[in-house]
Formats: sequence, C-alpha cells, structure tokens
Amino acid sequence: MKINNNFNNIQESYLFSMIAKKTNEYKKANPDKEVIRLGIGDVTKPLCKEVIKSLHDAVDDMSTAEGFHGYGPEQGYEFLKEELVKYYAGKGVCLSSDEIFISDGAKSDLGNILDLFDKDNTVLIPDPVYPVYVDTNTMAGRNIVFLNADGNNGFLPLPDESVKADIIYLCSPNNPTGAVYNFEQLKEWVDYAIKQDAIILFDAAYECFISGDDLPTSIYQIEGAKKCAIEFCSFSKTAGFTGTRCGYTVVPFDLVREDTSINKMWLRRQTTKFNGVPYIVQKGAAAVFTAEGQKEIKEAIAYYKENALIIASALDKLGISYTGGKNSPYIWLKCPNNMSSWEFFDFLLEKANVVGTPGAGFGKNGEGYFRLTAFGNRENTVKAMERIKEAIEKYL
Ligand code: PLP
Repeated sequence: MKINNNFNNIQESYLFSMIAKKTNEYKKANPDKEVIRLGIGDVTKPLCKEVIKSLHDAVDDMSTAEGFHGYGPEQGYEFLKEELVKYYAGKGVCLSSDEIFISDGAKSDLGNILDLFDKDNTVLIPDPVYPVYVDTNTMAGRNIVFLNADGNNGFLPLPDESVKADIIYLCSPNNPTGAVYNFEQLKEWVDYAIKQDAIILFDAAYECFISGDDLPTSIYQIEGAKKCAIEFCSFSKTAGFTGTRCGYTVVPFDLVREDTSINKMWLRRQTTKFNGVPYIVQKGAAAVFTAEGQKEIKEAIAYYKENALIIASALDKLGISYTGGKNSPYIWLKCPNNMSSWEFFDFLLEKANVVGTPGAGFGKNGEGYFRLTAFGNRENTVKAMERIKEAIEKYL
C-alpha cells in the first residue's frame, strides 16, 4: 500500500491560522480593545428575501408526494440551467443548457476538473493566487510554472510566447489582487491558449462585481474562447451562498482535445462521482434570477462595492497605491514604508486594531502587499479606515 506522497509537497497554509493566532493573542492581552476584521473573504449579509422564500417553498415541496425530489440530475435541474442560459444570453454569450453543470460551488469544480487532464501536463498559475489552484495540482503531482503578477504588469500578467503551458488558470476579477482583465488582454490569452493547444480554467467567481460593459464578465465574451476555456462561477459572492453552496461550471461543446469532447468527459466524471446539488438549494439559486431576486442581490453587491470605495478613497488620501476596489470586493495595497506583509499586519493590529490579510500568504509576489476586503458591514468599514488613516499619519 502506498499513499499519495504528493501531499507531502503541499505547502502548509499558515496564513489564516497565523492571523487567528495573532489576533487572539492581541485580544487576550488587550481585552478593552475592539478589533475590526477586514480580512475575511466571506460575505456578511444574509440571503435575500426572494431566495429565502424560494427555499421555504422548496422545503414544502419535499413534504408532499407530488413535490418530493429524490436523486436529481447530477448536472443540475433544467429550471436552474435555463436561468443561467438566459443570464449568459444577457452578456451576449449563447450557451446550451447542456454546456452548464450545477455544482456545490466553484472550489470543488476547480479541484475536480483536474480528473480530466493528464498528470504530465504543465500548469501555468499566476502568483499571487487563490491557493486552491496550486494545492490541487500539487496533490496530483503536476508540474507548475508560475507567472509573475506584480506592480509592473498591474497584477495582470499576459502570455509569454516562450513559455509552454497545457493548463492555464486565470481569475478575473482576481482574488487576492482585485485586478480585472479587459477584452484585449483576455483576447491575448485566448489566442495564446489556442496556439498552444492549452485549456484555460477561467475563474469568474467575482464577475458580479464588474459594473458597466467595458470589462468582460465571462471569458466567452472573447472570440474563440469556447474552443479553449472552461468557466467556473458561483452563487457564493453573487448572492451570499457561501454557506448554502451552489455554483456552476461551463464546458462548451466546442472544447475538444484528442478528438474527445471535454463536455462529455466532464458529464461522465460528474455522473460517476457526484450526485447533484440538493433540489432545495437549486430552487433557492433559481430565485436569484427573478426580477425581485436580481434587485435584491444587486443591492447587496452595491453595498459591498460602496465599502470598497470607502477603503479605496481612504488609501487615495494616504497616497497608498493599490489595485482592485472598483470592480472587485478586494483591495490589494502596497504596504507603506516598504514593510513586509506581516510587519504591516502587526502594525495594523497593534496601532489600528484592524485585521487584514498579509499578501505573502498568496505567493511570493504577494510579499510587501496586503489584502483588505469589502465584505464587512458599513459601520466597521468606515471605522476601520479612519483608524488606519490615523495610525499611518501618526506613526509612519
Ligand atoms: N474562486 C475564488 C477566486 C475564490 O476566492 C473562491 C472563494 O473564496 C472560490 C473560487 C470558491 O467559491 P465557492 O464558494 O463557490 O466554492
């Protein structure tokens, strides 16, 4: 018997445990101080009324013989997939409902999709990055090539023709940097992927934070993308489903490698290893697309975006450079006075009683940067930024 020794190569993630440890120690030593957290990546607003009503109705359905739902289609109910077809049509993207797969969230699909690809593929991953891409490929023993995202390229790296890649991860709007690719930049990636015969895994988990039509919210808005990209998205940040769990993955029919339909492979994978998202949860997700549901989720997103603006304008006043904050719930700032990420963490905790996320936890290029999030409540966000401003003006 042999275990998968690739697990020994996964870097221990000290980030969130270290943040919790330092915060708890500080609170214990300073019980009179109120610490505000602007570090979390989880939403704080409750599910909207329209979703709650739909969840209740679906629970009632389950209590009757006619309304009861047992095993459902592994790839999701048609009623939800059809809503997503319409949602994509609104972006100018034409999809068939069989190109959409409902899941329990983007994280699982981002990991599970790797079942479809050979272990010897070379994977291109930006640094800094949402750690799931790195860890899932390390578990599978795949070779990872890192792509530098830094101040020089505005944290939006573009393809380097001299680098060979088979699988490419792109996340836009980005976690942790908040940077968003424009149409021309994504087109460069699509062209590169087609040339390399590579597949782009496009993480659109934060697409709902993009306002206006100037920036792409789906990679399929780029010509040629259906031939080279899989898109992952989620109701987590769109509609507060982080604890309810529902997401979706788009695998176009046009995506074919070695004469094999990747869509068919994913369907086979899902029907073999997954038994679908609960009917009740999918009913809740479908309510997001009613007129009232859309109005309510847009209000919640606008609230978070206003928080982001409050954070960004405080940084503007301090002359601190950052990316994100406009079409993203994340604000990625350069630590002042050339402090390291953890030095700035300690400074903010001790002098402002504010907790954020050290950029170094997202990869080597994150060193010297810091992530603040807009998912807190308004009062705390305003208070936290006042305290940060005061502390920086007083001590730095
Ligand atoms: N992708 C990115 C970039 C994320 O930041 C997150 C969650 O924070 C996810 C995916 C996971 O989303 P889900 O809750 O749908 O699993």
